[in-house]
Amino acid sequence: MMYQLKNITTSVTYNAEELELVALLNSKPFDTWNCKCPLTEFPRGTSTARKNLKDKLKRELLVIQENYCAYCGINFCLVTNSKIHRDHVLPKNTERYRKFTYESKNIVLSCDTCNGLDIKKDKDYVTYYSDDYDSIKTSIVHPHLDNVEEHINLNNSIYAEVVNDSQKGKMSIIEFELNCERNLVLRGKLMQRTTVNTAEEQLVDSIMGHFRQLR
Ligand SMILES: [Zn+2]
Repeated sequence: MMYQLKNITTSVTYNAEELELVALLNSKPFDTWNCKCPLTEFPRGTSTARKNLKDKLKRELLVIQENYCAYCGINFCLVTNSKIHRDHVLPKNTERYRKFTYESKNIVLSCDTCNGLDIKKDKDYVTYYSDDYDSIKTSIVHPHLDNVEEHINLNNSIYAEVVNDSQKGKMSIIEFELNCERNLVLRGKLMQRTTVNTAEEQLVDSIMGHFRQLR
């Protein structure tokens, strides 16, 4: 299937060494996702260890998410690898959420259309905050904390349908533009398919790219 919204039932687990690194990175009051890891702040080798950790997150999340974007459900076989992003559900650039930068439940893979642009960016969807990540509530469907199937149905039609009048479902459909023309066109063409050819891959890229430019 080229589109599916999957309930994510597990998150990436860290070993002891990774937990130590994550604790250090999460403790800093600045952006530790992209920073240069100065030796005044970090032990030698942190940069490499961090790269390995990010690689592991992407590799394991691809398996956990069964190759689908956490927000729009597009199959990543339709998305160039460099356009598959590790997205922070709670924005990492917000002071309050910095400590969750490497929290594995705060990271999902999304296509760059959902992640990169005006759709999500650093928007704050938290409606209830707690230092305990599992207790946080969001206005959109949280891919790790909510079961998307209780909020949105993308199985039976090209339209994303709200389940049981779910407010979160409605909000996610609006925020991620799940029923915008781009998504309807692509789902209408490709939804039930199991494979696509090169021409169709190019079509997907051009439609998604076109809509990116319109923003
Ligand atoms: Zn997406």
